[in-house]
Amino acid sequence: MAVAERKRVLITGAAGFLGSHLCDRFIKENFHVIGMDNLITGDLRNIEHLFKLENFEFYNHDVSKFVHVPGELHYILHFASPASPIDYLKIPIQTLKVGSLGTHNLLGLARAKNARMLIASTSEIYGDPTVNPQPEEYWGNVNTVGPRGVYDEAKRFQESITMAYHTFHGLETRIVRIFNTYGPRMRLNDGRVLPAFIGQALRGEPLTMFGDGSQTRSFCYVDDLIEGIYRLLFSDYAQPMNIGNPDEITIKEFGEEIIKLTGTNQELISLPLPTDDPKQRRPDITKARAILGWEPKVSRAEGLKITYNYFKSLPEHEIKHKDF
Ligand code: NAD
Ligand code: UDP
Repeated sequence: MAVAERKRVLITGAAGFLGSHLCDRFIKENFHVIGMDNLITGDLRNIEHLFKLENFEFYNHDVSKFVHVPGELHYILHFASPASPIDYLKIPIQTLKVGSLGTHNLLGLARAKNARMLIASTSEIYGDPTVNPQPEEYWGNVNTVGPRGVYDEAKRFQESITMAYHTFHGLETRIVRIFNTYGPRMRLNDGRVLPAFIGQALRGEPLTMFGDGSQTRSFCYVDDLIEGIYRLLFSDYAQPMNIGNPDEITIKEFGEEIIKLTGTNQELISLPLPTDDPKQRRPDITKARAILGWEPKVSRAEGLKITYNYFKSLPEHEIKHKDF
């Protein structure tokens, strides 16, 4: 395809876990990809293989500050935001800003460029849900002033302002509510349960289960998620849509699966449950099935094997040194 014919997409959070996989997907589909990231939780190594390509550009920029991108833009995917509880507890103000000011800046850019904008929302907007599974119609149960509120409320505001631009300015927008996703390029020390357990198994440490492990999550493999997001972007559906894997498991059972997978001789130990930790989480994906014809294809057993192999292949000092 001639260079001028390529559609141009801006992906924020490009050096992060999901952003880097999105960059790969759009490159594969022959888009011109403009990645943007301030590297606060990201890592350039996730996208270094793209730097040699003529249809990839990278801007090191904080999207909470005014965003300028020269030339045409057809699509904007806003994925910049700390995403793991220990990250957003460490940088709460930046988390609030990137979800609010950052989203506002990018909506303004989308309007100026007449681009379609997709935002990365989250199952966290449902808070500690009182219904399970969670359909998109559920309004949620969030503690605004609790420690997780900085993330949850930023994302709730992000949805509201995005819908307002859609309604009042006629901007083309898409809202994906992402449920716990895992795969290669997660950070071993990001505190999320899967890298935590695998890292501990690789270092020969006990696996730190918070509480009694009866809380549930539903883990989606990254390739499935990216496919769902890609389909949503090109659908004509502007309401929020859940994308996740409904295969729900308790954290205790999940820990036991990791022990089996890694062959570690360590056991699960119980540590205090963090404040407001949701007790149950499982996506209702009726809408994604009906509207996008999408459902996850990768089983947890397959996805965990690929992810374990990725973590095992990291340099020894990264695995051993927890603060890497
Ligand atoms: P990540 O931390 O790996 O990636 C986020 C990226 O955003 C990082 O590279 C970081 O440096 C960048 N960033 C943060 N603030 C920025 C700013 N102000 N300006 C520019 N760049 C900034 O996290 P992830 O798991 O890839 O999550 C990506 C997005 O998906 C986030 O918006 C997150 O809320 C959402 N999400 C992820 C999950 C999941 O399971 N991974 C679930 C729900 C929602
Ligand atoms: N968790 C755990 N041990 C850890 C890290 C997390 O038991 O070392 C628990 C955590 O309390 C939560 C679940 O695993 O109930 C998922 O946590 P994660 O941080 O991965 O994601 P989130 O809470 O945002 O779904």
